[in-house]
Amino acid sequence: MPIYEYRHKGKPGDTCEETFEFFQKMSDDPIDKCPVCGRAVEKILSRFSGASDRMAPTRLKELGFTKLVRRDKGVYEKE
Ligand SMILES: [Zn+2]
Repeated sequence: MPIYEYRHKGKPGDTCEETFEFFQKMSDDPIDKCPVCGRAVEKILSRFSGASDRMAPTRLKELGFTKLVRRDKGVYEKE
């Protein structure tokens, strides 16, 4: 499943996280709002999961990323 990377359009500190990654199906439309704080976000780039282990969850946390996983329709959890 592709990983889409988003960042908030607002000022840093004005939003919940500056950058986050979001897993979604290729057929899904890109999100335009943060699922956590509801503020506007923009897609930076996409890549495929498993393409690089430098983006492993532990590494993501070191970098300050928040990985969001959609468990069910409309429900998101932080890992
Ligand atoms: Zn947010």
